[in-house]
Amino acid sequence: MKLTELHIYQHDLPVLNGPYTMARAHVYALDTTIVKLVTDTGLVGWGETCPIGPTYAEAHAPGARAALGGMAPGLIGQEITHPLAIHRAMDGLLNGHNYAKAAVDIAIHDLLGKRYKVPVHDLLGGAMTDRVSSYYATGVGEPDAIARLAKEKQAEGYPRLQIKVGGRDVAIDIETIRKVWEAVGPSMRLVIDGNRGWTTRDALRVSRECPDIPFIMEQPCNTIEEIATIRAQVGHAIYLDENTVDLATIIRAAGQGLCDGFGMKVTRIGGLQPMSVFRDICAARSMPHTCDDAWGGDIIAAACTHIGATVEPHLCEGVWLAAPYIDGHYDETNGIRIRDGHIAIPTGPGLGIEPDESIFGAPMASFG
Ligand SMILES: [Mg+2]
Repeated sequence: MKLTELHIYQHDLPVLNGPYTMARAHVYALDTTIVKLVTDTGLVGWGETCPIGPTYAEAHAPGARAALGGMAPGLIGQEITHPLAIHRAMDGLLNGHNYAKAAVDIAIHDLLGKRYKVPVHDLLGGAMTDRVSSYYATGVGEPDAIARLAKEKQAEGYPRLQIKVGGRDVAIDIETIRKVWEAVGPSMRLVIDGNRGWTTRDALRVSRECPDIPFIMEQPCNTIEEIATIRAQVGHAIYLDENTVDLATIIRAAGQGLCDGFGMKVTRIGGLQPMSVFRDICAARSMPHTCDDAWGGDIIAAACTHIGATVEPHLCEGVWLAAPYIDGHYDETNGIRIRDGHIAIPTGPGLGIEPDESIFGAPMASFG
């Protein structure tokens, strides 16, 4: 099976009730990039990558499309045997830019699943469940409003809640954490996500003032060095998210004990192949983690759900999807949806969804 065509599409995903606010970003609409791979067998594979605006990570949508366009001529004609071989080919064409390579990686998994007539989770080691837990992430908001939202999401069946904080007086963050805890208590697992927005001073204060609330502190500060500085003084478990840009950083964080787990994004680390290696490193050190993505539509949602299903359940912190925050689906029938705080895993071959490509319009660039 040889790659004969590669098409790149740009698509806007409007944010419902926007903007979505984080410590360092306000998001009104998401600019997502879709990749369609066509092979000499006639099989088609779909991939996607969608940075959350230009300030969340060192990634931006025009950068993804430029990187894909740069690699595409070198990928046309490649034999598609294993995702690792495609990663080696991509690494030979472009250094870094994992988030762009992820779109090709996801499309290759879709293709191979269709070729072997198995769902992608079978290619990744096999599903441990038919229903993956999800979690809800609030934006940065007023304490009473976030506490009300927390209660709503608890009633909807979410087992885990992530509260966004940072970018304001840390006293308001502490008030928000307290009010959410009073509203939902220990029935939901709580994560406080600073999205790099706290100083070490702020993170230490939050931990000292909330010793009775068993939350996980996710990516409180901007750099790994800052987090390493306060690690021993913080009484709460710490997860890394934005800083974990590649497998080398994961190995460092796990090996040096810089964190207790990870919020992980499939596209940040380069797609499902490196994500499965990450999963296995975490299993070797009993480190829990999520299988999220930044944002994106049904293609990314399916990819995250397939890998999430293969994580040992006691280490799976859930699969976050953008679906509740955006409008519509690429595949109205099989699109990925959250019900009662959980996601049923797709069972069709490949990703298990078939996008309606008329939604994407004409490709921005085509190769082959
Ligand atoms: Mg996070």
